[in-house]
Amino acid sequence: MSGLEGSMTSLVYCQEARQLLDAFGETVRELTRLHEEQFQAIVGGDLDSTRFDDLIFMANERKHEAKYAYLHHLETHRCSTFDATTD
Ligand SMILES: [Zn+2]
Repeated sequence: MSGLEGSMTSLVYCQEARQLLDAFGETVRELTRLHEEQFQAIVGGDLDSTRFDDLIFMANERKHEAKYAYLHHLETHRCSTFDATTD
């Protein structure tokens, strides 16, 4: 760790990090929705709902990509939204 001063951009909220986090959250929601739909299909007697497997697989890929993009941004940009405790 090289001494970094976290005070110069204290209130600057990184727009890109926020968008990446939003995108990540969106993929998680999409995944939840697909699981819910699959559940409803099964409950409704549609046991041949294998189409959900593909959709869930793809949604999972997108989730991993979005998560990686977000974490990668935090790592390279050093703008973690979690150290917003400094005033
Ligand atoms: Zn950033």
